Amino acid sequence: MKLNQVRERLLAREELLSPHAARSATSRGRRSAETPSPVRTEYQRDRDRILHTKAFRRLKHKTQVFIAPALDHFVTRLTHTLEVAQVARTIARGLNLNEDLAEAAALGHDIGHGPFGHAGEEALAECLPEGFRHNYQSVRVLDRLEGDGRGLNLTFEVLDAVEKSSKVREDIFADGWGVPGTLEGQVVKTSDAIAYVNHDILDAIRAGLIDEDDLPDSSHRVLGRGHGNRLNALILDAIEASWAATGEGDPSSAPVIQFSPDVRTVANELREFMFQRVYLYDETRHEAERGKRVVKYLFEHFRRFPAGISAGFSLTGDPVERQAADYVSGMTDRYAIRLARELGCPDANGWDV
Ligand code: MG
Repeated sequence: MKLNQVRERLLAREELLSPHAARSATSRGRRSAETPSPVRTEYQRDRDRILHTKAFRRLKHKTQVFIAPALDHFVTRLTHTLEVAQVARTIARGLNLNEDLAEAAALGHDIGHGPFGHAGEEALAECLPEGFRHNYQSVRVLDRLEGDGRGLNLTFEVLDAVEKSSKVREDIFADGWGVPGTLEGQVVKTSDAIAYVNHDILDAIRAGLIDEDDLPDSSHRVLGRGHGNRLNALILDAIEASWAATGEGDPSSAPVIQFSPDVRTVANELREFMFQRVYLYDETRHEAERGKRVVKYLFEHFRRFPAGISAGFSLTGDPVERQAADYVSGMTDRYAIRLARELGCPDANGWDV
C-alpha cells in the first residue's frame, strides 16, 4: 500500500531529529485513540485540525494591541499567530526539533483570546468567579468547544504547549504559567515573545506612539536598528543560546530554550518599554477600558438571557456564567461591537466596524 509508505517515511525522518526532540511515535497520545493517518504524523494532523476550525478563522478580526484598527497594516491576532508559527518553525528547524509540533502549538496558542485582546481577557476575569486566562481558554476551545462540543482530540504535547505559552510581565522566560514539557513548547513560548515585541513596535510606530529613536539604547546596541534586524538577531540568538537542544556539543549542558544573558536582558527591557509606552499608555488604556465595558455588558446580557447564545459556542450543561464567557470570548472585536451596539451598550458607539 503506497499511502502508508508516506507515513513510514515521515516517521523515519522524525528519527533523524535531535535526541531531545518530541516524536509523534512516542507521543503521550490523545484522549481517545484514533487510527493513524497514512500521510501525516500525529502533530501534522493536529496542526491541520487547528487550522480548519472556525475559532482559527475568527482570529483575523480579533485585536492584538490596537482595537479594531481601521488601517490594513496593523497586526491582528491572526497575523500575530502566523508570525509566531513562522518564528517557531525557524527556531525548531535550526535546533533539529520537531517543526510540526511547534507549528501546531503556535497556531493554537492564542485561539482562546477574546475580543479586544488583553482588555477582553481582564473583563472576563472580573466576571467569572474562577477567573479567565486566554491560555486556559485556548486549551478549552481546542479540547472542548470546537468540533461541535466534542473537542479536537489533540495530542497531549500540543495542548501542553498551548497551555504553557503564556508569560508573566517581568521576564519572558519566567515559569509563571508552567514550563512546557517539550522543547518545542518552549520554542513556541519564546517565539510568541519574539514575534509580538517586534510587530507591536512596528504598530506603535505606525500609530505614532513612538518612533525608532525612542527604543532603549541597549536594543539598538545589541539587536541593531529596524524591524528586520531586531527580529533576525533575536531568532539567531535563541538558536545559538539553545544549542544544547540539538544534542550536539557539550553533553553536560541541559537542553533548554533561552536567549544569551545579554539578549535576555535587552528583550525584557524592550518588553517593559512597550508596557510603559504602548500597552499601558493612556490612550491605549482608554480604548481598552471601553472594550472591557463592552465585554462586561455582553457577558451580563448573556448571563441573564442564555437562550440568546448561538448553538455551538458553549456547552449546554455548563453554568450560565461559563456559557456566557465561552460565547463572548469567542466573538471577534467587530462582532462584539456590532452586537453590543444593537443591544444598546453606549460604549460600543464610535468604533468604525
Ligand atoms: Mg501570542
